[in-house]
Amino acid sequence: MISVSGIRGIVGEGLTPEVTTAYAAAFGSYCGGGKVIVGRDTRTTGEMVRHAALAGLLAVGCDVVDLGIVPTPTIELAVAKSDASGGIAFTASHNSDEWNALKFFSADGIFLDEVQARELNAIKDDWKVDYVPWSKIGHVSLYQGAVDDHISAVLQDTMFDLPVIRKRNFRVAVDAVCGAGCYLLPQFLAELGCEVVKVNCEIKGRFPRNPEPLPEYLGDLCNKVKEESCDLGLALDPDADRLAIIDDKGEPIGEENTLVIAARLVLKHKPGPLVTNVSSTRALDDIAKDAGVPIHRTKVGEIHVVKKMQDVKAAIGGEGNGGVIYPGVHLGRDSAVGTAMVLQALIEADCSLSEFMKSMPDYTMAKTKISIEDYHRDELLAALHSHFKNDEQDRTDGLKIIRQNGWFQMRPSNTEPVIRIYAEGEDQHSADAFIREGTEALEKLFPQAGSDE
Ligand code: MG
Repeated sequence: MISVSGIRGIVGEGLTPEVTTAYAAAFGSYCGGGKVIVGRDTRTTGEMVRHAALAGLLAVGCDVVDLGIVPTPTIELAVAKSDASGGIAFTASHNSDEWNALKFFSADGIFLDEVQARELNAIKDDWKVDYVPWSKIGHVSLYQGAVDDHISAVLQDTMFDLPVIRKRNFRVAVDAVCGAGCYLLPQFLAELGCEVVKVNCEIKGRFPRNPEPLPEYLGDLCNKVKEESCDLGLALDPDADRLAIIDDKGEPIGEENTLVIAARLVLKHKPGPLVTNVSSTRALDDIAKDAGVPIHRTKVGEIHVVKKMQDVKAAIGGEGNGGVIYPGVHLGRDSAVGTAMVLQALIEADCSLSEFMKSMPDYTMAKTKISIEDYHRDELLAALHSHFKNDEQDRTDGLKIIRQNGWFQMRPSNTEPVIRIYAEGEDQHSADAFIREGTEALEKLFPQAGSDE
């Protein structure tokens, strides 16, 4: 599947060496040659994808700097801080083992936007790839210091009171899903004086749990937090841009709350606009209101949030899936940034995480997805618009229905043949009722729909 963030497919089916090489060559041409920084997550198909992509990049004369197995934010930061003309992450993020993908970054280390992605696709589709003669083929160099650079960049931010954090000796359990955060997060925590209890922090090539850091998949980490009397637990997705948090009682606080904690901290230190997508919790509206700053909501997707952050000179932004974006480090979702913010917030509150959460706005979110094959996006949305014609509607992305006691949103995914339904209410009961209402509407309007859960 081709989307604004890159191309994604099942290896051996959609994502073949031919497709990978063609896109990498098109991207190298799009960049106009020069230096391209690449890295990958831990999945077993990464080596094949890497080699196929390198062939394409070298064939158009790019010199490649390969960071090896590193998180996506590490690549974004490396591109942003260098003179590279672009970057590629070989990762299918939260998708399971059989998937892989190429995520493309422009010279400033942020995802390609819609216009740039169209330009790239046109180069590929019209085969306007500039293969260079034999004497101009690029070369590959390896750089192993990117994770260290990433850690230093986060620790340099003056918001973090490093001596106090280090003195506190947090005990932190980490579940890196045997993904690209296996090195970054334990090392980062060690530099913050934490004792690290590792769960799924060795590289195996396969993911030991569902790779999305959702509460239902984090049982091992929750148990570890309890058994080892940790102050908190941290869970990543395979490319370590998303961060989910477990409290000291072993309870997931919900991935929506990662950004809520981070935003409240940043707005206290450096007040400024807050940017998030239309699906994120309304707790963020409360946080922005308390801080007296505007909140802007965009379509779902890192690039939409980042573009708006640039426009409004945001202090902080991100997405409710555990993605914290802090312009003080770089404009991409970053689990190391999120981690430092949570520890700093706990230092300032001087209490346990479970106590701390009692001071946060308390809403309940529910999420599900419905698989629908072969539908037309515009027809689907038009049908939903008319089905919910008596409701307050927000059409920023898909359709969001806003009610007195909460909201629900039905959004066709950009990366999978599914409709995502998100809902938020005052408690589980009302959130579940909204989910049911959205599901029933879709099933009524589209009989081919099936539950994907
Ligand atoms: Mg990810």
